[in-house]
Amino acid sequence: MKILKFGGASLSNGKGLDQVLRIVENKISKKEKFALVLSARGKTTDRLELLLEMAKRGDDISEGWKALKAYQLNPDNGIDLSDEFSLLEKLFEGVHLINDYSPRVKDKVLSQGELMSVKTITYLLKKRGFDVKAVDSRHFFITDSCFGSANILEEQSASRTRTYFKEHVNGSIPVVTGFIASNERSETTTLGRNGSNYSASLLAKYLKAKEVESFTHVNGIFTADPQKVDNARIIEELNYEEADEIASFGASILHSKTISPLKESNISLRIKNTYNVKQRGTLISGRARKWGVKSITVLEEKVIINISGRGLNGRIGVDARIFNTLSRRGINIGLISQGSSEQSIGFIIDKSHKANALFALEAEFSVELQNGDLSAISTLEDISVITVIGQNLQGFAPAYRALTNNHVRIHLINNTINGNNISLVVDKSQQNKALNVIHSHIFGMEKKINIAIIGKGNVGGVLIDQIIANHSSIIDRKGTRLNIFAVAGRERILLNAAGIDSSWKREYEKSPVMNNGLESIVAFAKANHLENLILIDNTACAEIVSHYLYFIEQGFDLISSNKRANTGPLDFYEALRERLKKHGKQYLYETNVGAGLPLVDTIKLLHDSGENITRIRGVFSGTLSYLFNRFSCEEESFSSILAQAVENGLTEPDPREDLCGNDVARKLLVLARELDLKNEFSDIDIY
Ligand code: ASP
Ligand code: MG
Repeated sequence: MKILKFGGASLSNGKGLDQVLRIVENKISKKEKFALVLSARGKTTDRLELLLEMAKRGDDISEGWKALKAYQLNPDNGIDLSDEFSLLEKLFEGVHLINDYSPRVKDKVLSQGELMSVKTITYLLKKRGFDVKAVDSRHFFITDSCFGSANILEEQSASRTRTYFKEHVNGSIPVVTGFIASNERSETTTLGRNGSNYSASLLAKYLKAKEVESFTHVNGIFTADPQKVDNARIIEELNYEEADEIASFGASILHSKTISPLKESNISLRIKNTYNVKQRGTLISGRARKWGVKSITVLEEKVIINISGRGLNGRIGVDARIFNTLSRRGINIGLISQGSSEQSIGFIIDKSHKANALFALEAEFSVELQNGDLSAISTLEDISVITVIGQNLQGFAPAYRALTNNHVRIHLINNTINGNNISLVVDKSQQNKALNVIHSHIFGMEKKINIAIIGKGNVGGVLIDQIIANHSSIIDRKGTRLNIFAVAGRERILLNAAGIDSSWKREYEKSPVMNNGLESIVAFAKANHLENLILIDNTACAEIVSHYLYFIEQGFDLISSNKRANTGPLDFYEALRERLKKHGKQYLYETNVGAGLPLVDTIKLLHDSGENITRIRGVFSGTLSYLFNRFSCEEESFSSILAQAVENGLTEPDPREDLCGNDVARKLLVLARELDLKNEFSDIDIY
């Protein structure tokens, strides 16, 4: 026998529900034996929770309540949900009246979601002629009275489940409520959010099922959330330990307790997509394999609490008091970090517990706060906890460096002593960037480089076209994805986080006229969490060079084809180098001299390795050679040869710069400065 579990998103009105009925029908026609375990449909649990909060605040809930009822009856008006509706109405009314509710009341309210779901699916299957039976799991799943996240009493639950199924379910297909249970006084409890998976694995264990199939709205468990990381990939197989780690670090498709009943009875769990049944999904089983799978999870809605003060130093029992205070209020503590000087201790809790925790801690430490032993109990909000599972600290070093290169601020880092997990706390606003950077490092995925190009004329336009034309061959050869996310011309800026393609010229014309100039590129990169940023300047514009320092500060590496930044005042040249060094950024400008042949680099390397370069000789202007070569052997006027050279892009934007020798002088200055000579442009004699 199998247990089939369907999650809320699978059971939502329309396509999901149709698909679920089709899957069940299909299994019946194949004479498979199974029991169904269901969540509340769609977002019903969230909605019930919201209505409860509104009722508590004294808000008018009539509209939301009407919508909820309509949602429940949408699949078929004949479903009789009057018992659930009237109970809910009474409960909401009571809460509205006394402006409060207990965890017990909340469980009673939320449980109606699963009860209605089971009634609905039973009704729909019966209507199709199938022999099914609605089963209320509160009859046999017995828990303690920890409302909201109750703990199963194993022995009672196991024997009552078996008896119940023997006596009440004979031959029919059972349709069982997930998530809900009852305590020994027969009061309704719940197993914690996303608890239906746990219900399904408990049922599988008690009824000795062979396998659990859990139908979700995604293709399985991924190396990271595919909505946040572009190239996340599916994990085909996990052993129980690996899955357990992933579940406890925030993968929402697995309730953290789901795995252990399965592991005890060696029952496999397959996670499948209701909307894409052909996909094999992820198989979790006891097949002995070496630990090896890595995955990255994120916990959101957390806060850091930080307690600091000189009085903590060497004082025994402070930590115990903190943990006791919080545990008395049922507040769970995640990641803990304490400096060796013991002057501060930081830890993570659910955001929803923040006010409660602060209140309790301030009461507990009121004396210390008053006499100055503790200076503050502070919080840091809007953070995300990223956990890399299956990763030891040594192997994490390159990813860590990449994070700092990308200006990701890491508030806290923590590794488990057994060496298999690393957790980091970052600002929520940097979460996706951090995820992508870590993911590409850990999985050796192609590295994505996000490029902003300023200038789309002769040089800029050709560069853009070249990058686009070679896009896939660069991925193949170098494992690097060059993503041009911004093109700035004289009037407009084209911005596209997913990267422009060969239609970029048209898109550019449709883009808004730029008002806040280059800053919008930086803001856009930030808002879209873009990592590995490079700014390429293909203009001849001094104004843009003056922004270089700003771009470096904002985490960009720089490339320019023009010589402006290297041939301006020496002060600026040095300031630029200093800023690059401070922020660990690079500036490349190989095209400055020798049309991109590796000349600047070679000379710099020779100099850095101690060669004493005393003279550099060469023809320093391709433009002038071209002009004079043609002029000396063709019967054409100088002006027409020059005009053609300008036309073909062989001169500086203003050809007078070539003709008067300035351009050659600039190249000499670039090279001189590579050799650490402290020259200004005016030091160069042009004859
Ligand atoms: N309906 C519950 C929830 O939304 C349980 C579940 O979906 O597994 O948390
Ligand atoms: Mg030139």
